[in-house]
Amino acid sequence: MRIVAANWKMNLRCKSAVGLASRLRADGRSCWLFPAFPLLVPVAQVIAGSGLVLGAQDVSPEQDGAFTGEVSGEQLKDAGCELVLIGHSERRHGHGERHPLLVRKLKRAAECGLKTVYCVGETLPERQAGRAETVVGEQLGSLAKLSDSEKAQVAAVAYEPVWAIGTGENATPAQAHEMHALLRQSLERMGMKVPLLYGGSVKPENAGELLAQPHVEGLLVGGASLEYESLAAIDNAAREA
Ligand code: PEP
Repeated sequence: MRIVAANWKMNLRCKSAVGLASRLRADGRSCWLFPAFPLLVPVAQVIAGSGLVLGAQDVSPEQDGAFTGEVSGEQLKDAGCELVLIGHSERRHGHGERHPLLVRKLKRAAECGLKTVYCVGETLPERQAGRAETVVGEQLGSLAKLSDSEKAQVAAVAYEPVWAIGTGENATPAQAHEMHALLRQSLERMGMKVPLLYGGSVKPENAGELLAQPHVEGLLVGGASLEYESLAAIDNAAREA
């Protein structure tokens, strides 16, 4: 059985998030759910004691204190989170988050006992310039800055080509395979054995062929995770893979 992670981004409201989580729970599913901050507690209440796992979309690199607008790892744990996304392209490119900050976030999350899903992926110009592997390799390098105990808190690495996120254009299974094989090798060199997820315009129609690739151990799903039918269909593909 493969991992299906649902990144709800800045979507849904309390009622729709709770409704979606309740249906997933009723089905006995075990997806990883990443709601927006205000939805964490109501979703945590619905999924308590189920196989569903709660995660946040970001964490502050700071501890509790005078950091207006930030949310600490301690607060996320308190809200019921076990996981946090770090390095998502919408943080890297929309908020200028780079290597030093991402390393701090990875370390901070590990320090408060949160597991991390670390995202990497190249932009279209980087791919067109033949730099995809170099860029992704450099991004992965942030993990090399972690201690062994911090590395142990990395729950998954997600390859999400930026040109595929929210565009409807997914990487081909061959492109996903090529990058995942490279990531697997690099992670092995770092002594890390973590599941590799693919993300970028995953839909019920392409989930099966992506999951059929040897190093694709799960999917990180944005848009298609917002509707019960499409998320359930993707999760069914993961159960069959
Ligand atoms: C994402 O944001 O992680 C993502 C993969 O989005 P989408 O599935 O909408 O491309």
